[in-house]
Amino acid sequence: MDVIVLGAGYAGVTLTRQLERSLPESVQLTVIDQSPNHLVQHEVHRAIRRPSIAEAIQVPLEDLFDRAAVRLGTVSDVDTTDRVVSFADGSTIEYDYAAICLGSETAYYGLEGVEEHSIGLKSLEEADRIRGEALDLIERGTAGTIVVGGAGLSGIQVAGELAALVDEEGASDRINIVMLEMQDSVAPSFPANFQTAVHDELIECGIDVRTETAVERAGPNVIETDGGDLPYDLFVWTGGIGGPDALSGERPIVRNDLRLDRSTFVLGDAAKAVDTDGEPVPASASAAIREAGTVAENITALVEHDLEGAGGFEPRMEPYRFSVPGWIVSVGTGAVAQVGPTVLTGAPAKAMKASVGAGYLSSVRAIKQAAELVEEEIRA
Ligand SMILES: Cc1cc2nc3c(=O)[nH]c(=O)nc-3n(C[C@H](O)[C@H](O)[C@H](O)COP(=O)(O)OP(=O)(O)OC[C@H]3O[C@@H](n4cnc5c(N)ncnc54)[C@H](O)[C@@H]3O)c2cc1C
Repeated sequence: MDVIVLGAGYAGVTLTRQLERSLPESVQLTVIDQSPNHLVQHEVHRAIRRPSIAEAIQVPLEDLFDRAAVRLGTVSDVDTTDRVVSFADGSTIEYDYAAICLGSETAYYGLEGVEEHSIGLKSLEEADRIRGEALDLIERGTAGTIVVGGAGLSGIQVAGELAALVDEEGASDRINIVMLEMQDSVAPSFPANFQTAVHDELIECGIDVRTETAVERAGPNVIETDGGDLPYDLFVWTGGIGGPDALSGERPIVRNDLRLDRSTFVLGDAAKAVDTDGEPVPASASAAIREAGTVAENITALVEHDLEGAGGFEPRMEPYRFSVPGWIVSVGTGAVAQVGPTVLTGAPAKAMKASVGAGYLSSVRAIKQAAELVEEEIRA
C-alpha cells in the first residue's frame, strides 16, 4: 500500500513524521517536494535584513525522516479519480492515500500591473531581491518610498523588517514605508486586541499605515489606489494567496476531516478548510501543523481498516477543530504576541517569537538550526 505526502512544508513535514510512527511497517510512505530543503517560511521575512538567517531556516529533507522515502520533483497535476500524481518531467506515481500539502502561491487577483511591478515574499530568493532593491534605493541618497501591499502576517513582518533595515542604514529621514490594506484594520482576520497592538507597533516603527485603501493597478512608478495615486520606488506585494499551480491555482474547500474524497486529503495553505465549528481556518503555519495531526490519525485509521480487509463501515474520521494558543509576529526589532486575552510586546514578545520558531525546529529534530535561529532572533 502506498501513502504519499505532496509537499514538505509545515503540513507535509509534520504529517510525514507522524505517519512514520503510526503507519504499519508494510506501508510504503513517500514524501515529495520540488526542493531538497524544508523552508521555515514564517521566518523568511527576516532574511531581508539578516541574510545569514537563511542557514537556520532551511533543513535538508534527508535529515528529517526515518522511514519515509524522499522523492524530489515538481508536481504538475493530481488526478484524484484515478489516484495518480504527475510530475513536470512527465513521470507519474500512483497512490492509495495522498495528502496534498503544496502550500500556496502569491495571488494578484487580476490587478493590472501588480505582478509585473511588485516582488512577492514566499522564498529566500524573493527576500534577497527585496533586500537588494531596498539597499540600492537607500544608497541612491535621495528621498524614496517603499510600499507594502497587504497587512496580513507576512505584510506586517515585511514592513517591519524594511523599516528596521532603513533605520539601520541611517535613511529613515528620507525613505518612507507605506503599508496599504483594503480592510479597515491591519491583521484583518485576527483578534481586535492583537490588531491594535500590531498597528501601534507599526506606527512606532515609523510606517505610514493606510487601511481601507485598495490597490487598483500598478505602473512602473505609481500605484493607483481607490484613495488616489501613490508614487513608489519599491513595491512588495503580500496582498493574498491562491492555490498551488498543481491544483490550477485553486484552494479546494475541504470538509472538517480535511478530505477531498475518500483517498485524498488537502491541508495547510493549499486548502480552504472549515473546521468542525464551521469556522474558516486561517492560512498559517500554526494551522498547517495542527491539521497534520488530524490527517495523520485519519490516514492511519483508513489504512488499518483496509489492511484488516474486513470490509464493513469505514472508520470514523477525526474532525479538525481550529485552536491555537495565540499569535506572534515580529515587527522589525520588536514583536507582538497575543496569548488568550493578553497581548504582550517588547522583550517578552520577542522571547516568545524566538522560542516558538526554535521549538518548531526542535520538534522536527533540526536542533542545530533551532540554536542558530535563537541566536539570529536575539540579534534582531
Ligand atoms: C513572510 C511570511 C511570514 C509569515 N508569518 C507567519 C507567522 O508569523 N505565523 C504563522 O502561523 N504563519 C505565518 N506565515 C504563513 C505560513 O508560512 C504558511 O501559512 C505556511 O507556510 C503554510 O504551510 P504549508 O505546509 O501549507 O505550506 P508551505 O510551508 O508553503 O510548504 C509547501 C511545500 O510544498 C512544496 N511545493 C509547492 N509546490 C510544489 C510542487 N508543484 N511540486 C513539489 N513541491 C511543491 C514547497 O516547496 C514547500 O516545501 C507567514 C508567511 C510568510 C510568507
